[in-house]
Amino acid sequence: MQSTELLLPPAKHFVNGEFIDGTDFFSVLDPSTERAVLDVPRAGVQDVDAAVAAAKRAFTTWGRTLPGERAAVLLKIADRLEAHQQELMALESLNTGKPAAVAQDDVASAIDSFRFMAGALRSGTSLSAGEYAKDHFSVIVREPLGVVGAVTPWNYPLLMGVWKIAPILAAGNTLVLKPSETTPLSTLKFAELTADLMPEGVFNVLTGRGSVIGTRLSEHPDVAMVALTGSVGSGVSVASVAAQSVKRVHLELGGKAPVLVFEDADIDAAVDGLRAAGYWNSGQECGAACRVLVHESIAEEFTAKLGAAVATLAVGAPDEGESVELGPMISRAHYERVLAHLSKAEAEGARFVTGGGPVERTGYFIEPTVIAAPRGASCTQEEIFGPVVSVETFATEAEAIERANEVPFGLAASVWTKDAQRSHDVASRIDAGTVWVNSHLALATEMPWGGFKGSGYGRDLSAYAIDDYSRTKHVMHHTGR
Ligand code: NAD
Repeated sequence: MQSTELLLPPAKHFVNGEFIDGTDFFSVLDPSTERAVLDVPRAGVQDVDAAVAAAKRAFTTWGRTLPGERAAVLLKIADRLEAHQQELMALESLNTGKPAAVAQDDVASAIDSFRFMAGALRSGTSLSAGEYAKDHFSVIVREPLGVVGAVTPWNYPLLMGVWKIAPILAAGNTLVLKPSETTPLSTLKFAELTADLMPEGVFNVLTGRGSVIGTRLSEHPDVAMVALTGSVGSGVSVASVAAQSVKRVHLELGGKAPVLVFEDADIDAAVDGLRAAGYWNSGQECGAACRVLVHESIAEEFTAKLGAAVATLAVGAPDEGESVELGPMISRAHYERVLAHLSKAEAEGARFVTGGGPVERTGYFIEPTVIAAPRGASCTQEEIFGPVVSVETFATEAEAIERANEVPFGLAASVWTKDAQRSHDVASRIDAGTVWVNSHLALATEMPWGGFKGSGYGRDLSAYAIDDYSRTKHVMHHTGR
């Protein structure tokens, strides 16, 4: 592994193709050691205005490039990321504490996103051109929007950034991206690695506070759209500010994915699936399999097996080897939030099947936890965003569906059954943007990702993302004049 100094990106904003100095700085930490890694600048409103102005200038040419030209740039970015894969993985693990396997998956998925978007942008589809009104010939044009403001979270810093950057650029927009203040390193590294591949101003990065940068992007008259992945509170804030200028908003918010395990399910397969999908990225995952509803007739066997499987998860820092499966929480504040959820669960009558507290060591580590929870306990309703899975029971299929839909989120869900009819019926009645059958958390770059209800609107991944970041124009020609 490279030394930390060699890995680190410039601690500067990236605007108009250049790294520029900041004036006010804050520290970025390694959550495995609680030590400061780098001080990065905190942008103010004037920095946002300068970055938006650069993106607006760049749009006048980037927005008119041919699809093939944009695709060539996206493919070069993918190749560049691939050539620096190890470095990006190490940096992501350093800044988030995530195990090597998670960092590897993140970087590989980011590369795949650029390759997919490069192809998808060249094969857009729409209604046929033709005569729909007498003597008039109609043509549909898909146009870019202009400057997009993007705001990303800390759980998959590079990947969530790329899920925005790739389709935003593919559609012909330019952007100003603000990574999470906790995890800006891989986004700055991305800027450093790709600076020579994009015309100046097409891609800009500002580090600092969401309340300052995100708010300014949301109100700025020259920003056409704001795309945010983050908590419901941040999404509501962006949407309400953006509403003042009738700006488009794309929101990927929280989740509390229900996992319905029916009496005819393959219990061992469900336990295996949950051991992975409930604890991937230490449970700091918006689609995590965190809220199990299991049929009462198999609940005892299922819960005991799940507890035993989860107790074997290997907790550690990323440099403790490839066998590590679970890293720390991202920050002290988040660690304390997760522990507060555990105390509240206990106070509400829940039982810890395994785990339930902190791991006594340096860093923000929490034991992988399974909670047998009474109906309505807060741990079954609120997003905990840690290595915590709750298990409740149900008696009938109708009850399982009703309870799956009772939380305000609607991002993802899974159904575990061997009954084909039931798998179709139940999947069609669950309010979630993604429903897995006998699986959980598998993603494909070609398929859309996004929520219903409180989980937001707009789609990441797939050609639907390019649609979201473009606009439809109808041009109608009179054929007789
Ligand atoms: P967060 O909302 O605290 O922060 C996300 C980003 O929003 C950060 O860059 C932050 O600085 C910025 N921000 C904060 N307040 C803002 C404001 N008022 N205006 C504009 N921007 C603001 O979220 P987080 O803690 O970084 O991430 C965890 C959350 O993200 C969880 O709720 C999780 O479910 C969600 N998430 C969702 C998806 C998805 O695909 N739906 C993916 C990953 C994470």
